[in-house]
Amino acid sequence: MAAHDLQLQVYTDAGRREGLDVRGAYVHDLGATRREPVDVDRTSVASAEQVVTAAAVRIRARDYAPNPGARCRSCEVRTLCASALGLSRPGREQPAAQTEKTFITSSP
Ligand code: SF4
Repeated sequence: MAAHDLQLQVYTDAGRREGLDVRGAYVHDLGATRREPVDVDRTSVASAEQVVTAAAVRIRARDYAPNPGARCRSCEVRTLCASALGLSRPGREQPAAQTEKTFITSSP
């Protein structure tokens, strides 16, 4: 799953639940002047909803165990997170600045 797929699939889910006819979603990389489509078919959106629902269940259970990984690169608290700091050791993945901007459109 690309970096913004989940976000745009959740936006799509919300939009459809509000009655919008969302037919497409795209990530516009302004630096590379490129537009990448995101799957917003019923299966992809249902899967995204399951991911978010599982996260909500963990939050309700006060399960805040860190889960470092590639997601740390775009996490807004990575400079404060002790778990992410472990990624800055030599040979480990470095968090990088996020350069993409996301938009959602209702037509391709
Ligand atoms: S930086 Fe910390 S809070 Fe953010 S994704 Fe990584 S482990 Fe989770």
